[in-house]
Amino acid sequence: MILPALTEAKSPFWRPVKYSLFPPLGLATLAAYLDPEDEVEIVDDHVERLDIGDRPDLVVIQVYITNAYRAYRLADHYRAKGSHVALGGLHVTSLPDEAAQHAGTIFTGPGEQTFPAFLDDLRAGTPRACYVSTGGRTIEGLPPVRRDLIKRNRYLVPNSIVVTRGCPQHCDFCYKDAFFGGGKSFYTQRVDEALSEIDRLPGRHLYFLDDHLLGNRRFAENLFEGMRGMSRLFQGAATVDSVLRGDLIEKAAGAGLRSLFVGFETFSPENLRSSNKKQNLAKDYAAVSRRLSDLGIMINGSFVFGMDDDEEDVFDRTVGWAVEHGLTTSTFHIQTPYPGTRLYEDLSAQGRIFSNNWDLFDTRHVVYQPAKLTPATLKEGYDRAYRDFYSWKNIGQAALTHASLKHRSKHFFYSAGWKKFEPLWDVVIKARRLALMTPLLEAVLSKVSSSPKDDGLRDKSLLPSKR
Ligand code: SF4
Repeated sequence: MILPALTEAKSPFWRPVKYSLFPPLGLATLAAYLDPEDEVEIVDDHVERLDIGDRPDLVVIQVYITNAYRAYRLADHYRAKGSHVALGGLHVTSLPDEAAQHAGTIFTGPGEQTFPAFLDDLRAGTPRACYVSTGGRTIEGLPPVRRDLIKRNRYLVPNSIVVTRGCPQHCDFCYKDAFFGGGKSFYTQRVDEALSEIDRLPGRHLYFLDDHLLGNRRFAENLFEGMRGMSRLFQGAATVDSVLRGDLIEKAAGAGLRSLFVGFETFSPENLRSSNKKQNLAKDYAAVSRRLSDLGIMINGSFVFGMDDDEEDVFDRTVGWAVEHGLTTSTFHIQTPYPGTRLYEDLSAQGRIFSNNWDLFDTRHVVYQPAKLTPATLKEGYDRAYRDFYSWKNIGQAALTHASLKHRSKHFFYSAGWKKFEPLWDVVIKARRLALMTPLLEAVLSKVSSSPKDDGLRDKSLLPSKR
């Protein structure tokens, strides 16, 4: 089972730490359907050397858009050797005809129902060319993820976990609707099964890779209730509206939530409307940052540049807002029309997509004609936004927005640690000692109180002068 490296991971600008974060959980989930006597290996091309001198009976390859060409080369290689090659994942679901040219079998949509059916057929000698996930989707009663196949010491966050599938929203630029077409597009594990899986993970730190951890209120409430007293620290992702609604976010914080990826995406109501990101319309983004900050939850804000209402001032305005509102990290994206999405259809119908080189669909390159910007301005503005947001000055300023010294320090070390200590990360990764960083990560994710008094640390004399 192979996860080929994304093209950007092999570029000279490769930040090894970025591609050494999470193990290939999807493949480990599918591996759980194999028989105990089957011999299987999961190879993650990002963190280990791929040996293609073997000839397995079956090769399963997970295909994303920017590893598609590499995946196809590997598939062709193994098919020439006589292996049965099966391809699945987001890109295969978007472009099944393209993928089918390189595979004995393709899967579209999530694999929990189709992969075991395929294995039965393969053992009977009658594997089909295509397995389409349709109705009857569930992740209740799944066999335990084959974490024994994951080389934990090669990842900063080996305890990544997914307890839901999909998302209840329908943003036009997102893969979600394309991937889950033809059936349910948001469903959860059973709470007791999710808690058992959490219990099986060693240490304290967890990273929920769910698209929207707060998407099903009742499930999330019960999950957080069950996690109280487990002494976990965790990170996850959710939408703007779910942070503002009710008290779920307080319950998440009580269970150990310490950092949240939030899809702000754009400040323009016109952009929100045209991309069908309705859940963000008329929402007070400043209230989101205040609420999370008051709960001691660090924020990773996600922003998209190049939507049709964006003009040249969008880059500086976005960075300025993110710094002023104390976002710990920001992830900027150049809008990217992934095939299979409504955005791709629309821009394609308007004749605005000028490249179908999938290697460039990495949210760092411009592959379409923006409405109010030139492609060059969009690319330059995107690069500048990253440079500016992660300047020492802005990291310091954003950290100073928090009330307590402890919160400020955590912010500073998390943000600077992520972007400013690349040589240190390289040494740790090469020495396969990423596990040594876990206590440090857990310290940075430790609880802070909203009240400076509670931390007992506020001391203005420790702040740098305005100059
Ligand atoms: S909220 Fe996020 S995961 Fe859900 S559809 Fe929108 S972009 Fe996709």
